[in-house]
Amino acid sequence: MIPRTQQAAYPPSWQDELKSIITCPKVLFEALELPLSALPSAQQAHALFKVRVTLPYLNRIKKGDLNDPLLKQVLPLEAEQSSPEHYSDDPLAESHHNPVKGVIHKYHGRVLLIAASQCAINCRYCFRRNFDYQANSPSRAQWQESLAYIHQTPSINEVILSGGDPLVLSDSTLSWLIAQIEQIPHITRVRIHTRLPIVLPHRITPALITLMQRSRLNAIMVIHCNHPNEIDNDVVQALTAIKHAGITLLNQAVLLANINNNAQTLIALSEQLFNAGVLPYYLHLMDTVKGAAHFSIPESEAIALHQQMQANLPGFLVPKLVREIPHRAHKTLIF
Ligand code: SF4
Repeated sequence: MIPRTQQAAYPPSWQDELKSIITCPKVLFEALELPLSALPSAQQAHALFKVRVTLPYLNRIKKGDLNDPLLKQVLPLEAEQSSPEHYSDDPLAESHHNPVKGVIHKYHGRVLLIAASQCAINCRYCFRRNFDYQANSPSRAQWQESLAYIHQTPSINEVILSGGDPLVLSDSTLSWLIAQIEQIPHITRVRIHTRLPIVLPHRITPALITLMQRSRLNAIMVIHCNHPNEIDNDVVQALTAIKHAGITLLNQAVLLANINNNAQTLIALSEQLFNAGVLPYYLHLMDTVKGAAHFSIPESEAIALHQQMQANLPGFLVPKLVREIPHRAHKTLIF
């Protein structure tokens, strides 16, 4: 059961909402009135990668419907227990591009800094679902090492805060981290990769927006939204506030079998994102991460879907169809 205190009134702050996350498969099943016959296998998959679902996201899921496209992104399944041989814990070989703890440096000019070891939601298809957060555990001491590396590497001009989700950090920690990055003269941009505007939209507070606006760095937020049902009024409000603050707002989506692999859904997603101030940026083919093979669709199907998007949308609403190939220093355009 969801505790009574969490049911009685909608949590008043994003911090409370973060504390109210569902982390137990049984609670998830009860809250969504799912058939309990599927619970044992969900519990087994939960042992591999924990359930995490925010209440705002849960509220957009249709009760009793195992085929709900939002539920399928967060529901642990038996299919996670087995994967084809070429699927791995580190599908993008990030551990080979980890010059110091907490830094992934694969691409020219930009570097990824692990800002948080957790997300507000655990997406079952996540390419970092098996990432070694212990070895890259974010802390001020470790960030000092990461920042020293960035300082010593003048070819880097952009820092990407990722994780985990950097917006689970408090404003004061985020502010401290951005202030440290600002002190590195060759850094001109800071990018935040986050799913919180979608799964915990109250995280987008005036204080957070001010924090990003007042930075000397060009601020970019790349959100992660896969389905139009993920966008409700609270999400639109949060995204519009970011857009009105002059922060560049882009979306990356992942093509997921039986969730968003149809043209109508993808077209509606692009339209709704743009209405909320977001430009569709990337449409990713699934990475070969262990436990998520059942989300994958063939490349030929992805190309056909992308062609249908091109035929029905203006060019600026058609995201680039891409795949990440390990050790390649850029994303690979499929089409
Ligand atoms: S929000 Fe992003 S990083 Fe976090 S679990 Fe989902 S896909 Fe992975």
